Amino acid sequence: MTTPSPSAANYPGLDEWRNRTIGQHPQWAEHPDFASTIEELNAVPPLVFAGEVDLLRERLASVAAGEAFFLQGGDCAETFAGATADKISGRVQTLLQMAVVLTYGASLPVVKMGRMAGQFSKPRSSNLETRGDQTLPSFRGEMVNGFDFNEASRVHDPNRMLRGYHTSASTLNLIRAFTTGGFADLRRVHAWNMGFAANPAYARYESMAREIDHAVKFMAACGADFDALKTTEFFAGHEALLLDYERALTRIDSRTHLPYGTSGHFLWIGERTRELDGAHVDLLSRLRNPIGVKLGPSTTGEDALRLIDALDPNREPGRLTFIIRMGAKNIREKLPAIIQAVEGSGAKPVWVTDPMHGNTVSLPSGYKTRNFDDVVDEVRGFFEVHQSLGSFPGGIHVEMTGDDVAECLGGSDPVNESSFAERYETLCDPRLNHMQSLEIAFLVAEYLSK
Ligand code: PEP
Ligand code: MN
Repeated sequence: MTTPSPSAANYPGLDEWRNRTIGQHPQWAEHPDFASTIEELNAVPPLVFAGEVDLLRERLASVAAGEAFFLQGGDCAETFAGATADKISGRVQTLLQMAVVLTYGASLPVVKMGRMAGQFSKPRSSNLETRGDQTLPSFRGEMVNGFDFNEASRVHDPNRMLRGYHTSASTLNLIRAFTTGGFADLRRVHAWNMGFAANPAYARYESMAREIDHAVKFMAACGADFDALKTTEFFAGHEALLLDYERALTRIDSRTHLPYGTSGHFLWIGERTRELDGAHVDLLSRLRNPIGVKLGPSTTGEDALRLIDALDPNREPGRLTFIIRMGAKNIREKLPAIIQAVEGSGAKPVWVTDPMHGNTVSLPSGYKTRNFDDVVDEVRGFFEVHQSLGSFPGGIHVEMTGDDVAECLGGSDPVNESSFAERYETLCDPRLNHMQSLEIAFLVAEYLSK
């Protein structure tokens, strides 16, 4: 007889976060639909399964050991309207292309993950936004309120969590179909290139795709079996900011009887909500998922060690990922002390660079942007620091899209501010466009193959 799995409703400790300071939380507990929304979310099917989450932990353990590389990318803030087949396939395709560049260039397996299917809530530096003489609550991602600047749209509405859940479900469904249904077949490397071969990064990709093609044809002639090329593992992760949502989607796994966050495989804690005694660290410390933590320029080695104690007390391989976002100006100076403290203690987290969030600037015109040169410089700094310390630079986390947007300045086919009026689409932070994403992948592949 099997023991019935305990319900997540009364599993010990899963509500302790409610007694902690909850940073960046929406004001919606008094909303008339709050209780019924949570009740509904408590009952919906999981978006990801515990076995997949465990598999990801194993994959990330290989990254921590220096045997694989971790690639994560997607929008800063996903939108409900943006969950279309075209946009999702564009992002997945771009990530697959980046992964091919990395795998081929570095001869390392790549753990692929979208910043997708759940990235609908945003921390903000200010609770309020003023335009002209009107002040309203800030936009916090479509799972909380609307982007339109009017009072009705900016109300924190718990019903949006349900739309977020269903949009995540349909996004994941399409990702699963793409990555297992033939779209990700490595023999289609050329087809992912979207046909802009005139551009420097595309031309470079084309010539690499030709080499892969030759290698594949050679192996086919030798009678090789291509099952491993037909499908690919692809995981989903997002910032676990909305604890009401994450708690409601926590399930107890029937095999292990342990709690798993089932809103995504990988959950991370943002730079603004990583206080040790805060609610986010508490809830995520109790889930079995691989956990990420963003570390900004104010982080000390001691902070990192305490986060390890809180989130990964057993030093479990693949459990903890530090996502470093120091800014190009800071990384060479500030990262070494953190790595030395952490690795000196015997801990082996996955080290990932987020070269986006420390390099955001606002232009006089009001646009938020990033200079591609700063992004590149931070990536270089990340690799240089790891090379000098002998630690493993395990991954990259980028805000990117498969579309030809103009949001980050520069690149080898440079984006200028004059294109922003027509091609700046993000609701939150500026993303690398398709070509800039590929360029970053080539840069990283060069470092990894050194
Ligand atoms: C983000 O990833 O969009 C974000 C807000 O990052 P950070 O927590 O590093 O500022
Ligand atoms: Mn962002």
